[in-house]
Amino acid sequence: MDRRAFLAGLAGLGALGRAPYGGAFRPDGDAAPPADGLPKGGTARPAGGRPGPYALVLGSAQDGGMPQAGCYAERCERARAHPRLVTSLALIAPEAERVYLMDATPDLRAQMDLIDAPGFRARAQARRPFDGIFLTHAHIGHYLGLALLGRESLAIRPTRCFCTPAMQRMLRENAPWSLLVDEGRLTFPEVPLERWFDVDGVFEARMLPVPHRPEFSDTVAFEVRGPRGSVLYLPDIDAWEAWDRDVREVVDGVDVALLDGAFYSADEVPGRRVEDIPHPLVPHTMALLQDRVRAGRRVVFTHMNNTNPMLDDGSVEAAHVRGRGFEIARAGMRIEL
Ligand SMILES: [Zn+2]
Ligand SMILES: [Zn+2]
Repeated sequence: MDRRAFLAGLAGLGALGRAPYGGAFRPDGDAAPPADGLPKGGTARPAGGRPGPYALVLGSAQDGGMPQAGCYAERCERARAHPRLVTSLALIAPEAERVYLMDATPDLRAQMDLIDAPGFRARAQARRPFDGIFLTHAHIGHYLGLALLGRESLAIRPTRCFCTPAMQRMLRENAPWSLLVDEGRLTFPEVPLERWFDVDGVFEARMLPVPHRPEFSDTVAFEVRGPRGSVLYLPDIDAWEAWDRDVREVVDGVDVALLDGAFYSADEVPGRRVEDIPHPLVPHTMALLQDRVRAGRRVVFTHMNNTNPMLDDGSVEAAHVRGRGFEIARAGMRIEL
């Protein structure tokens, strides 16, 4: 990323301090650049042109966000001034003037303000902010934001939604989501499972089914590849061992893997049994993928629960994760595609 674009990005983040929630709210607590002062994976700028395609991290918290409702523990109290937004990505192709959303979170209002693509605000005002919306599954952190795109709010013009048939069915058959479909605001192109499909000639994407509590829909991870790089977005999985794929091989196939980092240890959530909220623990994931990281793959933890000590920059756990060469997602992080 060149210096001008970086400063423009910071100015954009600064402006967020004033709008849209008034003075105290500065989305995102994790919007500050990492300690080295520069977002990782900056957007290389082709000579004389706009930057190439990239994924922009819009949030890194588990579905409940941070602070979580009714949580007055120290970490959540601190996060009231600097919230962590719920896990999501924007896929941005400046040259083609395309913007896609990966998961529509309850924090969508603030997250749309983080999108720095040229012309994005104008196209949002014209009620077509996204060229497409990718949805992983029907848990609250991953699709509730669709409500903010309906007639009570932005009232988007027809927008394609890339998801599985089960997820489509959930949206078609249940209010209030069904109104988005009935009014033609969301359309569902046919997309294959586990096979690459073209997205407007700017990216290719692939849905990989993953095992994850299937109350309302199935769950997928997305792989996205552009002309310069590729990313895996896998915010939720019950257990690596329950997957019919080897996570090490999947990580081998991409440049950057954004993975479920919900919990660091099994005793984080007092009063809830960890069997009720199954996710791989971060140290276990690191043990599985350590040799990949050593070989140069980037593994970035995201979707962190508000109990996860990795959310504290100065914690022993965060230092341990970074010391082993893994990364912790922050809003504002860019990944070349
Ligand atoms: Zn989730
Ligand atoms: Zn989930």
